[in-house]
Amino acid sequence: MKLCSACLLGIKCRYDGKSKPDKKVINLAKKEILIPVCPEQLGGLPTPRVPQEIQGCSGEKVLDKECGVMNKKGKDVTKQFIRGAYETLKIAKIISIKEFIAKQKSPSCGYGKIHDGTFSGRLIQGDGVTAALLKRNGIKVITEEDLK
Ligand code: SF4
Repeated sequence: MKLCSACLLGIKCRYDGKSKPDKKVINLAKKEILIPVCPEQLGGLPTPRVPQEIQGCSGEKVLDKECGVMNKKGKDVTKQFIRGAYETLKIAKIISIKEFIAKQKSPSCGYGKIHDGTFSGRLIQGDGVTAALLKRNGIKVITEEDLK
């Protein structure tokens, strides 16, 4: 049993009210149990919502309150991102999850690369807030790009 970014399974939970179904993830769901989670919704953000990006740092630093997450209209959504990360961790612990299949580049779920906070499409190295928290708690994180 694994956790999975809900949008990869076709759940319409993204900022634009759409999903991002990934064939490899959907095929995997036919063979093993994938539990869909959307940390941004779990953090109390609406769908659709204004796009958000971590401001030039990584999810690790957001967890440590060294930087934050803003939406494109300049609203600070750090609190919701941290809440969503901890709610996701709670689910993982309740059902003893050891692995998270994460949507790459997301400020919540992204793993290894995220947007740089300028809303320009530019990427930097780093993890989203939820991916960072799960990793910190010993849960393996992979992305849809790692599936064969
Ligand atoms: S927070 Fe994660 S699951 Fe939710 S829409 Fe963004 S990438 Fe998908």
